[in-house]
Amino acid sequence: MDPAEMRRLGHWVVDQVVDHFERRADGPAITAGDADELKQALGGSLPLQPGDPLEAMRTLTEVALTHMQHGDHPRFFARVPGPSSFAGVLGEWLGTGFNAIAASWGGGSGPATVELVAVDWLREALGLPEGTEGVLVSGGSMANITAIAAARAHAGPGVAYLSDQTHSSIGRGLSALGFAPTDIHALQSDENLRLPVSDLQSAIVEDRRQGRQPRFVIATAGTTNTGAVDPLPELADLCAQEGLWLHVDGAYGAPAALCARGREVLAGLEHVDSLVLDPHKWLFQPYDVGCLFVRPGVLSAAFRMDPEYLVDVMASRGEVDMRNRTLELTRRSRALKLWLTFRTYGTTAIAAAIERGIELAEIAQQLIADDDRFTLVTPAQLGIVTFALAGADQAAHRTAAARLAQDGYAAVTATTLKDTPVLRLCTINPQTTEADLRGTLERLADPELTRARST
Ligand SMILES: *Cc1c(COP(=O)(O)O)cnc(C)c1O
Repeated sequence: MDPAEMRRLGHWVVDQVVDHFERRADGPAITAGDADELKQALGGSLPLQPGDPLEAMRTLTEVALTHMQHGDHPRFFARVPGPSSFAGVLGEWLGTGFNAIAASWGGGSGPATVELVAVDWLREALGLPEGTEGVLVSGGSMANITAIAAARAHAGPGVAYLSDQTHSSIGRGLSALGFAPTDIHALQSDENLRLPVSDLQSAIVEDRRQGRQPRFVIATAGTTNTGAVDPLPELADLCAQEGLWLHVDGAYGAPAALCARGREVLAGLEHVDSLVLDPHKWLFQPYDVGCLFVRPGVLSAAFRMDPEYLVDVMASRGEVDMRNRTLELTRRSRALKLWLTFRTYGTTAIAAAIERGIELAEIAQQLIADDDRFTLVTPAQLGIVTFALAGADQAAHRTAAARLAQDGYAAVTATTLKDTPVLRLCTINPQTTEADLRGTLERLADPELTRARST
């Protein structure tokens, strides 16, 4: 392509994205697709001859990018929203445009430094001890598996404890890492859906009696279901006493430690051996980026890889090769967007945006408590509140959520907590208004207010 053409097409992309930022609240929060229709619009035979890139980009924008959940929509309350910031988008674009690589020091000292700096800014903002090492991966699933693989290389094989509220990707990850079923010990959560410390203590004793080797406690800081935080200070004490590794999955909730209210709820985070969080959830980053923090030295002890052909021709003086902190070698620079986000907004504004998400769930809780068509099930915790439709069964909850999604006005999750059917709002988008919450609750209580969209 000649430069004039590149500019014309590139500027078109920028306009589409800024239009999306300006107008996303007017469109649907989610659009499901019909497999045949989508294949019709996006498929066809293998393109042998050149085509018009603008026309193809129009198809992508109008078909592919409309049929999905819009995690950045102010009324997308389902799963975990992704309210990504424009600074994050800009950082992503720059890295892609320059094909930035963050594998070795010699091959990418600039991006490597950006990653070391951004990760250390994040460490400081979270209140983790100096020297804690971090690295960026694709998301929480990979961050958890990477941290646990490193922990096991350090501590040796043994039993990992978790709860029925632990994210399901962790059980899958443990199996993939080769943990035997008897070494994956899931405990029933307590009435607040937290990991019960006394049951954990008994389980450790019992496992030892059976000749097993207790090794890892996998706690959650902000469960995806309810935002519950496992008792981190008690777990840290227990792990120190018993010589166990404390891994904390904060993929959803840990970013809340940037603000004062979250820091209170997440007390104890500074005592963990490894921690995972997802900047593509509550740190306003576009997909994908997950982050793990581990005690110094443990990552590179597990993952160091220095074959002859990777040795840098330009001598390095002990600088960090990012490849030695993860299982990836060639890796894009996910840090550029995070670094640019910190530099653009500053942590004070980012913390305020996170705190707003905590408040919005509390506002929703109040609206729910004041309305006898609803029953509050779990209180607002780290931006998540769950509630039931009075007198309705599971099917009715699912229907209410499905109608709302079909209407497009908003998206909420219908799920169950220990067999109780609930609706769940996750309110981490700081652009959500109180009117958005009211409108969503009204439509859930009164199905007549929703209508099926014509597609
Ligand atoms: C989202 C989430 C994960 C998985 O993270 P991905 O980025 O989707 O891979 C793991 N744990 C918790 C608590 C989560 O909320």
